[in-house]
Amino acid sequence: MNYSFWEKYFIESPSDITIIGSGIVGVSTAISIKEKLPHLDVKIIERGSQPYGASTKNAGFACFGSVSELLDDFIKMGENPCMEVVHMRWEGLKKLRARLGDQIMEYKNGGGMELFRNGDEQIMDECLGKITFCNEMMADHLGISKCYTEVKNDKVHRLKKEAIFNAYEGTINPVSMMNQLIKKAILLGVHLINGIAVDSIDRTNKKLMCASGLQINYGTLIVCTNGFAAQLLPELPVVPARNQVLMTSPITDLNLTSAYHVDKGYIYFRQYEQRILLGGGRNIDPITESTDEFGNTEIIRKYLLSFLDTIHPGSSDHVVHWWSGILGVGDSKFPVCKWVGDDVLVGVRLGGMGVAIGSYLGDKLASEVAES
Ligand SMILES: Cc1cc2nc3c(=O)[nH]c(=O)nc-3n(C[C@H](O)[C@H](O)[C@H](O)COP(=O)(O)OP(=O)(O)OC[C@H]3O[C@@H](n4cnc5c(N)ncnc54)[C@H](O)[C@@H]3O)c2cc1C
Repeated sequence: MNYSFWEKYFIESPSDITIIGSGIVGVSTAISIKEKLPHLDVKIIERGSQPYGASTKNAGFACFGSVSELLDDFIKMGENPCMEVVHMRWEGLKKLRARLGDQIMEYKNGGGMELFRNGDEQIMDECLGKITFCNEMMADHLGISKCYTEVKNDKVHRLKKEAIFNAYEGTINPVSMMNQLIKKAILLGVHLINGIAVDSIDRTNKKLMCASGLQINYGTLIVCTNGFAAQLLPELPVVPARNQVLMTSPITDLNLTSAYHVDKGYIYFRQYEQRILLGGGRNIDPITESTDEFGNTEIIRKYLLSFLDTIHPGSSDHVVHWWSGILGVGDSKFPVCKWVGDDVLVGVRLGGMGVAIGSYLGDKLASEVAES
């Protein structure tokens, strides 16, 4: 690599805080640190020319949980932990919207809609029967009323007529969100250095060993690499999960006004301009999709194309773009937010609602730094 003396000196010299990863968590953490502790010098190291994980590749759902996901988590985690995670998403979304403003990230308050397929009758009946219960939970833990309502699905004819509307969810443009967060961080004095992949962390000598041969010294290190976390810290309980997404060309008679969730959120779709965005389905090929390699596979493509024709018959012929992103999951829906040594802090495992939880986690990581 042809770094000048000045470049090498700047990149390698230690900052008070060095963050790896410029996704929503890394950048939100940097902003929160600068807000709380403006005297600290903060540097972010990012391997991509822009964030290269999930934060600019996601579907842009500003959501915090459909009834089927909530009931599932409730059984697996118990009421308080389940609602604690929902609360983190709720607070994170509030923070993100307050920080950036709705207009700049194209926030639209179209609500979230849970739909059910033919064959999903059992889970559908269970969800419909628990709306009051879920509304009570939301009222108790978030202080909001009438979160979920049973409504008629009159837009997607090949799915069940019964649907559940969440009045408090919305959608954003993830690239606008990230561009604005990055701009804010830079205005606060954060140094964002793109195009440098960290190969390993030398914790004894407090250095990041980089693919380019650079050795970046750090004071306090914060690892915000989510689905890629185990590459640098294999002991972390984070499993990568690839999500594949498609976008159609503009379709004239489209009128999908919400953020739609199906199959406990494993399938998601929405309208963007006059196009359909559809993604997910990793649960039908879980072993292959537990990967941190980007890519699209035949099995998921077929599955999503067939589902696309369910939403809007014939539209599988109008797919113009495919991509994938990598998220970080694990046994628990709680993000991993902990010190792994005196000077290395970790903020990873955002799950499928990282747009919501990201700003909350950034604030939490900054508080950890402030208290250390
Ligand atoms: C296809 C898809 C759709 C999704 N849809 C939604 C949605 O609609 N709503 C929602 O709330 N959530 C959604 N999510 C989840 C959400 O996007 C993530 O939870 C969130 O973006 C995670 O943010 P992060 O900052 O933790 O990780 P990331 O955005 O992945 O950022 C990690 C960064 O670390 C960098 N990095 C990794 N390793 C290294 C290294 N060794 N050296 C240097 N840099 C490194 C990466 O390049 C990356 O930029 C979706 C995820 C995917 C993949």
